[in-house]
Amino acid sequence: MKPDIRNTFPFLQKEKPLIFLDNAATTQKPQSVIDALSDFYSNHYSTIHRGIYSSGEKATQLYQGAREKVATFIGARPEETIFTKGTTEGINFVAATWGDENLNAGDEILLTQMEHHANIAPWQELAQRKGLAIKFIPLTSEGTLDLSKLPELLTPKTKLVGVTHISNVLGTLNPIDTIVAQAHKVGARVLVDAAQSVGHIPINVAALDVDFLVFSGHKMLAPTGIGVLYIKKELHDSVPPYQFGGGMIKRLTLSDASYVNAPERYEAGTPPIAQAIGLGAAVDYLNSIGFEKLSQYESELCAHLIDGLSQISNITLVGPLDQLRQHGHLVSFAVEGVHAHDVAAFLDKHNIAIRAGHFCAQPLIEVLGKNSLNRISLYLYNTKEEINYLLDVLNSLCKK
Ligand code: PLP
Repeated sequence: MKPDIRNTFPFLQKEKPLIFLDNAATTQKPQSVIDALSDFYSNHYSTIHRGIYSSGEKATQLYQGAREKVATFIGARPEETIFTKGTTEGINFVAATWGDENLNAGDEILLTQMEHHANIAPWQELAQRKGLAIKFIPLTSEGTLDLSKLPELLTPKTKLVGVTHISNVLGTLNPIDTIVAQAHKVGARVLVDAAQSVGHIPINVAALDVDFLVFSGHKMLAPTGIGVLYIKKELHDSVPPYQFGGGMIKRLTLSDASYVNAPERYEAGTPPIAQAIGLGAAVDYLNSIGFEKLSQYESELCAHLIDGLSQISNITLVGPLDQLRQHGHLVSFAVEGVHAHDVAAFLDKHNIAIRAGHFCAQPLIEVLGKNSLNRISLYLYNTKEEINYLLDVLNSLCKK
């Protein structure tokens, strides 16, 4: 990666910038994303769809332009690309609308043992309310999904399979195409949590043939408060609106209402206009680099990190390390005899930010037989020098 990448991130331009290795939680923002927000608020600020005046029209153009960019980025059509607040809202949206409307007592939902709480809690709530059963695809000892169990777990009662594209704890990249093909055979729909993949590898929802896909902008260089829910067009008739109000009404009387088509059907109220424009700018930024270069760079960094961590005697790494060396961007580990929070606090004293805890994946941490872990997650602006410094500091901690 060219050194000038770092120069495009104001956060990294301080005299002694924080060594930011918590990119799976959220990423820093390039100047072009900050400029897109600033330009909108400074020069074109208005709400969308309403103003019959020039800045209102410009705001609408920018917002819909962002939708088109994001749709192209994930291989979707604009009307299939719904702006949300983020991954969590996207999954709650599907559970509360399609799930509530289409799932009935006795139906089954199939999740995996490596899901983030965001892809478990909404389904648990729905299951309790409607009498559904939830099953889980187990893990292999390497930290991949044990797909040999799929044929017995998928039954005609399975109505939804919810799976993370890349695990936020193990870094595992799951074979979505295989899971979709088997799920569709029994008539189940598939929801993919792309929170950890969308900013790192190319996604094409049409090629993957997924039914729903969700992600958050803030993990891919965009502002907080914006995310995307992809809903396959053929499902639109079976997905009622999530919220009701302005912007999605075709006609409303004092007794009832009819609604416009997607995407506006699913975006009641004034949407996060600036944030969506910021997401469009983040897509432009990632496109200007290209996933081939980005993935290759991240994998090189990740392999270097794994090699270094493996040489520290009291560190135990989790996850499919060979896979992560090929195409990884995060690694989790435990330091024997030191609590994960103490490891992170020690690194913080040395100006390094990493994550400690259960990463909102308590069931997975339990399956791994741990109480907590540390996680280092990389992005395009991290460098080998930063990793070498981290390894030195970790070495000094482990020798104490
Ligand atoms: N799913 C995964 C795999 C995640 O890593 C995260 C965030 O860490 C989420 C869901 C939730 O994302 P958000 O908090 O942006 O809604």
